[in-house]
Amino acid sequence: MRGPHDQPGRRSGRPGDVHGFSHVPAPAARRARRSGVSRNRISFFERPYPDANSVLIHGKRPTLVDTGFGSGVHELESWLTAQGVCAARLALIVNTHHHTDHVGGNHHLQTHHGTPIAAHPWEGRAVNRRDPEACLGRWLTQPVQAYHVTQFLRDGDTLNAGDSTWHVLHTPGHSLGHIVLHREGVGITGDALMTGDIGWLNFHRDGLNSAERALESLDRLAALNLEVAYPGHGPVITDVPSTINAARTRTEKMLRNPMKAAWHGTKRIFAFALMSEGPMTEQDLHAYQARNPWITDYARDVFHVTPTEFFTQLLGEMTRSGAARWEGDHLIITGPYRQATPGWARTPTNVSDWPPAPAEWT
Ligand SMILES: [Zn+2]
Ligand SMILES: [Zn+2]
Repeated sequence: MRGPHDQPGRRSGRPGDVHGFSHVPAPAARRARRSGVSRNRISFFERPYPDANSVLIHGKRPTLVDTGFGSGVHELESWLTAQGVCAARLALIVNTHHHTDHVGGNHHLQTHHGTPIAAHPWEGRAVNRRDPEACLGRWLTQPVQAYHVTQFLRDGDTLNAGDSTWHVLHTPGHSLGHIVLHREGVGITGDALMTGDIGWLNFHRDGLNSAERALESLDRLAALNLEVAYPGHGPVITDVPSTINAARTRTEKMLRNPMKAAWHGTKRIFAFALMSEGPMTEQDLHAYQARNPWITDYARDVFHVTPTEFFTQLLGEMTRSGAARWEGDHLIITGPYRQATPGWARTPTNVSDWPPAPAEWT
């Protein structure tokens, strides 16, 4: 039976296994346990797209960071139970940012268990106002069910999670209201830091400043001297400085070559659609192009071509790079993912159709 990750603070941090929640305590951890030094106990749930990873901080106030895509919430509940924390016992959910792969389980957990949800105010208030910008759901036509944010976390705030005090770092770049939690060399970094890639930059909406902001956020992350980071996608990061350096190099390239940033971002957006909606026929692709504002906007404002020209080029890029391939008459994504079960959502998935948030939160 896999146990939670014992984290005695700065001197801990072995990588998890591929499922992400089995860790061998370092000698320092064993010493700390014997001496009764308080420690973080963390379980890490590494999941393929369309879900983001989740992190559970154990203790008197069990706290879950990010809840995956909406279709994966029952698997998340089972995982929580296997970690010894049934969903009803969660004291708090923290969202690193408002993208649908990180907030999708919020609806179920809040509706069934009344779990409080914390996020940065720039994104949390948009969610509570039912602003169409919330979760970028409408612009990217990604489904997400209703929830409301009950606690706002700003840069420099502290948070009582598990048995310890965690610190909030505002790390805009990938999204404007992105936050990281950290304490004693341990970071929960969402899409601000991952291995082998960077979170896509919303070049159309946020401009080149998104790359500048991401670079500043990387500098601030570097200053924390993290020994271990739990990212929103991919495995536990144990060589944080070199991962930050690699992210910095990639982000600087985006800054020097805005078209590169635009292609990186649009490929990520469309790859996510192929993963969450499943393989698409020519007809599906036409329908997808027709209903997606992000395609029209990028075509007009960034690439200066028609939406059809841009989308045709995007499909060409995806197949040429090997990110997607045709299998029979369906275009499929080649990377690891698990397709969402069709019909998983039984309540409205467009922010504009959500019922209003309770008055005290609007
Ligand atoms: Zn993500
Ligand atoms: Zn994201």
